[in-house]
Amino acid sequence: MALRGKVALVTGAAQGIGRAIVEILLKNESKVAAVDLNEELGEACRAQLSQEFGAENLTFIQCDVTDRGELQEAFKKTVDRFGRLDIVINNAGINNEKNWEKTIEVNLTSVIKGTYLALDHMSKEYGKDGGVIINISSMAAFLHSPHQPVYTATKYGVLGFSRAIADAAEIGNYGVRINVLCPAFVDTALLQSVQEEEKMGKFVKYKDDFKKRMDTFGLLPPSLIAEGVLKIITDNSLNGAVMKITSSKGIHFQNYEPLSA
Ligand code: NAD
Repeated sequence: MALRGKVALVTGAAQGIGRAIVEILLKNESKVAAVDLNEELGEACRAQLSQEFGAENLTFIQCDVTDRGELQEAFKKTVDRFGRLDIVINNAGINNEKNWEKTIEVNLTSVIKGTYLALDHMSKEYGKDGGVIINISSMAAFLHSPHQPVYTATKYGVLGFSRAIADAAEIGNYGVRINVLCPAFVDTALLQSVQEEEKMGKFVKYKDDFKKRMDTFGLLPPSLIAEGVLKIITDNSLNGAVMKITSSKGIHFQNYEPLSA
């Protein structure tokens, strides 16, 4: 898909990976609805990026992705503002092992909701023009982490859900490609939470092991994840693909063998 004039909705867009994705989409002449819970950071992001890319190309929508009504409204506002929807990036995520039910809500349930809402607005099943959905998982879906059991579970869940719904989209001729992106450690605020008892609960005692893992694997810049997103959007052959991004191999894909009995 060529990006010029396309309309994208990005969740968790106020900082970190989400913000880098908003920036690369604007650079490539898309129009973007940046959706985030954090109004202060979201408005600051909108103000800064509007200066560079034009206020007419970017809107900030304050929304808690766990609230069905608010998320529905965010999709509606995007279409009302820009007239269409072509790209949805379900990126919002948290790391909270203490309030682990919330982690499931944000990282998995809301990604499922965001995918279904995206299909409502883009699927040819409903007379729409098609599009692309990218769900942000993590390398935690491959290298399970003893420090983050529930976070890990949500990222496995995002991967499984996205591949299954991608097959449904292909069989059902939705005209929507659905892919997964799994970054290794990325230099964002989320990583700071591994040091906080309030977020990690009893797993905080493993924080040094976790930091050792970070030293071994290295920290990726958010801009590299945004490049991965761009590659998925522009390569029309990708559906149900799982992109991994690591320091040693850069942007690459997981290979899956065909099923055999
Ligand atoms: P971040 O904390 O820098 O940014 C996350 C954004 O999501 C924040 O702006 C936050 O306000 C927003 N958010 C949180 N809960 C929300 C809610 N209920 N509704 C709306 N917005 C909400 O984190 P990040 O590192 O940029 O993470 C983005 C995604 O990438 C997450 O899904 C994360 O799990 C995933 N990821 C991160 C890393 C990493 O090492 N940082 C690695 C792999 C995957």
